[in-house]
Amino acid sequence: MAIREIIRMGHPTLRKVAEPVPEDFIGTPEFHTLVEDMRDTLAASGGIGLAAPQIDVSLQIAVVEVDELPSRYGTIPPIPFSVYVNPKITVLDEVTEGYWEGCLSVPGMRGFVERPQHIRVDYLDANGEPGSYEALGFQATLFQHEFDHLFGVLYVDKLKDPTLFAYEEEFDEFGLPEVESQS
Ligand code: ZN
Repeated sequence: MAIREIIRMGHPTLRKVAEPVPEDFIGTPEFHTLVEDMRDTLAASGGIGLAAPQIDVSLQIAVVEVDELPSRYGTIPPIPFSVYVNPKITVLDEVTEGYWEGCLSVPGMRGFVERPQHIRVDYLDANGEPGSYEALGFQATLFQHEFDHLFGVLYVDKLKDPTLFAYEEEFDEFGLPEVESQS
């Protein structure tokens, strides 16, 4: 187990479409080491989600762990540590809502992104078992953000408006920029 370096925007791996994980790789010692390293790296970062490309591993794996903590998003429903291999998103309701997103690969910044708020996630878990999860609200945003990393997409590509992108320190000093009507 180890804490890996999180690569930042500008590193070419973050812009690649990651390879689907071969099913016979799941369950190998190499796979478990990778997942444990992702867990350690996420815990050390203080983040709530991490995708393998963010540690320069171009495979379709993401991990999520959300403690029930009030935050700038309100109280987020908790998600115990979970592993998502080769995940697919199905949008169940096209209605979008926006959140101020941040990213471990774009440190110190926040940007306002609108995304559908009711999705289903189909995936394989860390044992290769198929799973399905319906996510609402901020959880839906979180999964879309993490799984975008598996396709070379960063949240900055989806900013509602380039002016709704700023440093966290300035947010704390001056407050959040006003956001017009959220569709
Ligand atoms: Zn991210």
